[in-house]
Amino acid sequence: MTDSKTPFIQCRDISRVFEKKLDFAGKIARRLGSNLREERVQAVDRVNLHVDPGEVVGLVGESGCGKSTLGRIISGILPQSEGSLFYKGQDVAEMTPAQKLDYSINVQMIFQDPFASLNPRKRVRKIIGEAPLYHGLTTARELDDYLDHVMEQCGLDPGYKSRYPHQFSGGQRQRIGIARAMAVKPECLVCDESVAALDVSIQAQVLNLFMDLREEYNLTCLFISHDLGVVEHISDRISVMYLGRIVESAPVDELFEAPFHPYTQALLNEIPRLDKRGVDFAPLLGEIPSPLDPPAGCHFHPRCPHVMDICRQEVPRTREIAPGRWARCHLDG
Ligand code: SF4
Repeated sequence: MTDSKTPFIQCRDISRVFEKKLDFAGKIARRLGSNLREERVQAVDRVNLHVDPGEVVGLVGESGCGKSTLGRIISGILPQSEGSLFYKGQDVAEMTPAQKLDYSINVQMIFQDPFASLNPRKRVRKIIGEAPLYHGLTTARELDDYLDHVMEQCGLDPGYKSRYPHQFSGGQRQRIGIARAMAVKPECLVCDESVAALDVSIQAQVLNLFMDLREEYNLTCLFISHDLGVVEHISDRISVMYLGRIVESAPVDELFEAPFHPYTQALLNEIPRLDKRGVDFAPLLGEIPSPLDPPAGCHFHPRCPHVMDICRQEVPRTREIAPGRWARCHLDG
């Protein structure tokens, strides 16, 4: 158990670098004068982030900004290159095998593409029931009742247990993915673009399911999305990520009411809203730069309408701009 002051999950200066070495042909080509070089991508750059028990944090940014990589690190699927990850106040790197098992059961990831994440050769019974059976949360005799309960809880007809994933619609497949995660009774869900592949009306249904599950089980959630509009209604706080760095974090109402960072403002400008709050920010210009060769200084400077000389040279440090609000920008605030 965590006390209310200990974050459920905490990332401290977490970085992740991916390196692609030259293969044999590449090495030969380089010897012959080609300018081929090894590629190095800093997908996550000294990220500090915490999620308190029972809290939902939205992690938002464009595709390729490193948010999925961060989600995988937090879920324990991918190791970080540097920095520390804490689970209920304990450094994951220093956990005993029993503690690691507790962490891996308690933090479950739900992926974007439900079809790709479900084994097409397994029936739903096996997909959902395998892990709780393995971890002793149910017995073979009680499995059917256990599955009925989990499936109903996730809006699935338990009569479909013997079906295969391809026999379901996209929305139902995502519910199967959610049921698989919920079947081990986790305390935390890391949802990576979990509604992005669905039609808008189905998105709303699946978001409602997340909100119901959160309410019923007091779940802690990290909700990753490229769309601020999607995380708005489900999150308590939002962190905005750009090219590997968190550029702004704030309680959801404050972020929507008065976004500080020019990138957050631009993202907000892209959401169609009925209640336009009277302020139009500069739209987002151009494409996100290649993470293989990110701009110096503030990564956002080539697209920023407020760019200053200092932005091209100095990486802005993260500052507390108001109680509980953080931003990484050279603008005064
Ligand atoms: Fe724009 Fe400079 Fe702030 Fe970066 S640091 S967001 S370039 S004003």
